[in-house]
Amino acid sequence: MTSPAPQRVVVLGGGIGGQVAATRLKAKLGADARVILVERSTTFTFAPSLLWLMVGKRQPRTITRDYSGLSRRGVEVVHASVTGIDTAAAEVQTEGGTIGYDYLVVALGAALDLGRIPGLAEHTHHPYDLPSAERLRDALAAFRGGRVTVAIASLPYKCPAAPYETAMLIDGYLRERGLHDASRIDLYTPEPLPLPVAGPHAGYSVAAELAARGITFHPRTQLEAVEPSALRLGGELVPHDLAVVIPPHRPPAVIAASGLAGPNGWIPVDRSTLRTRASNVYAIGDNTAIPLENGMLLPKAGVFAHGEAEVVAANIARRVHGDLREDAFDGHGTCFLETGGGKSGLARGDFYASPLPRVAMHRPRRTWHAAKIGFEQYWLRRWL
Ligand SMILES: Cc1cc2nc3c(=O)[nH]c(=O)nc-3n(C[C@H](O)[C@H](O)[C@H](O)COP(=O)(O)OP(=O)(O)OC[C@H]3O[C@@H](n4cnc5c(N)ncnc54)[C@H](O)[C@@H]3O)c2cc1C
Repeated sequence: MTSPAPQRVVVLGGGIGGQVAATRLKAKLGADARVILVERSTTFTFAPSLLWLMVGKRQPRTITRDYSGLSRRGVEVVHASVTGIDTAAAEVQTEGGTIGYDYLVVALGAALDLGRIPGLAEHTHHPYDLPSAERLRDALAAFRGGRVTVAIASLPYKCPAAPYETAMLIDGYLRERGLHDASRIDLYTPEPLPLPVAGPHAGYSVAAELAARGITFHPRTQLEAVEPSALRLGGELVPHDLAVVIPPHRPPAVIAASGLAGPNGWIPVDRSTLRTRASNVYAIGDNTAIPLENGMLLPKAGVFAHGEAEVVAANIARRVHGDLREDAFDGHGTCFLETGGGKSGLARGDFYASPLPRVAMHRPRRTWHAAKIGFEQYWLRRWL
């Protein structure tokens, strides 16, 4: 009797969700499956650390890894851009050729869309990828005081806390450099409160932290246009000496063309199993849209991409072994919120709770900051 051919499990995207899914799948399936991860970049940068890099507290090499760790664990890493997903034929097209699959996990993240607002790329900074965070670090180092504007261009964006952390870390940095009294920081957002998905208690806590630092918070304000040294916000022209704008986000183009996308361009999934509408195709992390009972979407955050990857890997491995029981993703998540001065707050909760997410917000402490550093080190050692 011959043993069955190994199944082929393909993971698209080698970010937070893709790394966890591929690692777990290979560990659970061993020789029963080939696990192939397709990622266009040869290096991975741990995004939460970009905010520390922005204020000179990290070097690029300490927060960046190649994919050799995944290869050592038996995952076949293919560095190529995914150009098509054909769920009818059960294959994906890449720049390097076509790859067939028995099971597919789509974890391509969210793309930044700077071109949507003229002038954004030329006249503003952001910390949302490594080269941009390095440029912002250099601009901050050259800053001699004045008006800093932090703005959120549009919703949704990755990590609900990150723009607020950005403002507070810049505040702490200006204090360290003796520039605080010569500066002011304003934060503009279309949101009614910080972290609205987490409920009013979390929002008011973050707003209070901003106020305690003298950062002026402007909710419900839309960015309309970018000029060389001013932003048009809520009908007003707001001049600045340094503008940090979280760019618009969009789904990766390959998803829109795949038939997996819903009306808003992101991939709709079953919120417990992360199944898409296509057979044996799962989607996890930032490229999904998961509606919550409060009418908002589950935030685009690494903690959720990670939790979803664990569930999907467990369920695919069981199915390969003929076991139809399924784990369910439960919407729980924890997030540190850096507040500058070596402190961090902590938000922890159940985002699937009914009728509203139940999120506890813990005040900034040095121990949460130390825990965030510990988590960074764990991530960079454990997964790549
Ligand atoms: C500054 C910043 C701070 C953050 N802080 C936190 C935090 O404290 N806590 C938290 O939980 N989350 C945080 N996040 C959010 C977190 O990084 C993301 O939510 C998380 O990375 C999502 O994981 P993912 O696997 O869905 O996507 P990603 O990690 O973005 O991975 C997607 C991968 O797909 C690849 N890819 C895309 N298109 C293609 C293609 N066509 N072909 C091949 N490869 C492709 C990309 O190169 C990328 O490697 C932060 C994000 C930023 C930017």
